[in-house]
Amino acid sequence: MKLQVRFIEARLRAPFVSGSGAVDSRGLVLATLQDPSGLVGFGEAAPLPHYDGVGTDEVRAGLEDCRDTLAAADRDAQHRELLAACAEVTALPQALAAIDLALWDLRGRRAGEPVWRLLRGETAGAAARGPARAGAIEVNATIAAADRATAAAQGAAARSAGFRCVKVKVGLGDDAGRLAAVRAATGPRIAIRVDANGAWSVEEALASLRALEPVGIELCEEPASGLEPIAAVAADSPVPVALDESASRPGALERRVCELICLKVVSCGGITGLLDAARRARAAGYEVYLASTLDGPLGIAAALHAATAVGPDRACGLATLGLFEGRDDPLPAQAGQIAVPDGPGLGDGLIGWYGV
Ligand SMILES: [Mg+2]
Repeated sequence: MKLQVRFIEARLRAPFVSGSGAVDSRGLVLATLQDPSGLVGFGEAAPLPHYDGVGTDEVRAGLEDCRDTLAAADRDAQHRELLAACAEVTALPQALAAIDLALWDLRGRRAGEPVWRLLRGETAGAAARGPARAGAIEVNATIAAADRATAAAQGAAARSAGFRCVKVKVGLGDDAGRLAAVRAATGPRIAIRVDANGAWSVEEALASLRALEPVGIELCEEPASGLEPIAAVAADSPVPVALDESASRPGALERRVCELICLKVVSCGGITGLLDAARRARAAGYEVYLASTLDGPLGIAAALHAATAVGPDRACGLATLGLFEGRDDPLPAQAGQIAVPDGPGLGDGLIGWYGV
């Protein structure tokens, strides 16, 4: 199988501010796999250095390490075996995610079926075909502005667009003022979740969550950094706690350290790794939902397909393509949901976004 690797730089409309830094431009790695018959599948890695500590250069190097393994694969090589062979030459989940997505895309195109339908066949047995359409996945809007007025305007826009959940970045200073402004703009019925991106100590997290709780908070993602600190917050927090960045720490899926876990295609090593992680997380007692790391449309589509198999317990953080500048969103949210692509593979009309 022939591998092609390309780098994409995608600008955001406005700086995306979180407790772990600000992002105004996004590097993505586009991987193309061509099988011996000439059929092509596309995959993507969306590493976010300030989030997962991995950059696009490392992902490209990880993909290069897989080139010979992929080239040696014959036409009938099985997806899981090929992925396992690649995992022997690179341990980087972000590189494996790009290969896994391209393999799923290729399988779907070969079969003329969307990935969600292939997943349904794998999990329910080949005889269970299920309904003709996958439907849509409930998603949240993300508010990543550091000032009250912009955050409130984004909250009002999310409400009029029909979202039932918004996520607000915290740990930025003026969290209480900004959250009060968002609550005033969204009204009482919309769920507000907060994300500290690991910025707080245990003591800061507990003090902040006690102060913010009267606004009405659905959950707090990554209040502190690491499994033990997050377990300590969860034990005393007035607000349910979710693992996000720390979900990829060793042992995170073996025992439940808090109520919820947020899983991402790129840090789990693709759709295959995400489904495996979701099974283990549920077995440990976590509620599960999915999110993007500001992925391009291939990563968002992959998460939507995976979500049909996972059945997320909460709204997913996948409505992020609208944050990019000068690129039409091929997977827009409508009334707080994104339709799962129904074309073959990961979906039709996704590649134009990358401008390659
Ligand atoms: Mg998060």
